[in-house]
Amino acid sequence: MSLLELRDLSAGYGDGFVVRGISLSLGPGEFVAVLGRNGSGKSTLLRAAQGFLRDVEGRVSLEGRDLFSLGRREIARMVAYVPQLSEPVFEFTAGEVVLMGLYARQTRLQGLGPKDAKAVDEAMHLTETAALAEKKMAHLSGGERQRVFIARALAQRTPLLLLDEPSLHLDISYQVELYGLLKRLQQDGRKTILAAEHNINLAAAHAERLVFLKDGAVVLEGSPAETVRAEVIRDIFGAEVDVRANARTGLPEISLVTGGRGQ
Ligand code: ADP
Repeated sequence: MSLLELRDLSAGYGDGFVVRGISLSLGPGEFVAVLGRNGSGKSTLLRAAQGFLRDVEGRVSLEGRDLFSLGRREIARMVAYVPQLSEPVFEFTAGEVVLMGLYARQTRLQGLGPKDAKAVDEAMHLTETAALAEKKMAHLSGGERQRVFIARALAQRTPLLLLDEPSLHLDISYQVELYGLLKRLQQDGRKTILAAEHNINLAAAHAERLVFLKDGAVVLEGSPAETVRAEVIRDIFGAEVDVRANARTGLPEISLVTGGRGQ
């Protein structure tokens, strides 16, 4: 059964649909990246997939259940989200933000247990945020904040992880580390991952399936080997690139064709 299934989903912000007719299915253990230009609808797709948008048409199911029939807590037990834009959490410490990941676990009758404390510790360890625990979010760099949001998502202990351009504020060493961590979480069977990403090389190196959006619609879907081609990148991104196989992995990667030196 699909963990997440979008069937003919259209969504927007009350002024016409921004994404249209999206059908996408994620089976358990998959790692899928959504690629497309700025404004192509990647964030909107991720928001609609977890019921954040009101202006929607079509179906979304989580583990076979209709998303729109589920409460927020039920959804939060299945899906964790790493947003692209910082939420207004600046007055909180990093440790407090990670604890927010336990929201779905708490009820009035049952407080937090040892499992929850362990999940928080592990999430902060994996994201190297333990040393930041006492610091206010306002005082962290963009990359540090991003890692705290990832720790919060891991502390939530959901089967499905949605990430909105997680590499955006990270320098290259953290980009590689983050995607390495996501890959490990996928491979040890803990997570199914859907990430919006603008970095084609990072996505092609880690996701098994790439979904390309253009003007709010899926225009191409397939493995990196099937989809990362110069003519595809030209058509979808309007950029001239060379595509070659990575020397170590054999996976396709792009390099920009620039008008600079050597031309
Ligand atoms: P991407 O993530 O691919 O950059 P987005 O989903 O953020 O694309 O944006 C797609 C379109 O939706 C853009 O035209 C953008 O202006 C619009 N949009 C995004 N967020 C909002 C919002 N909160 N309210 C209204 N329009 C929005």
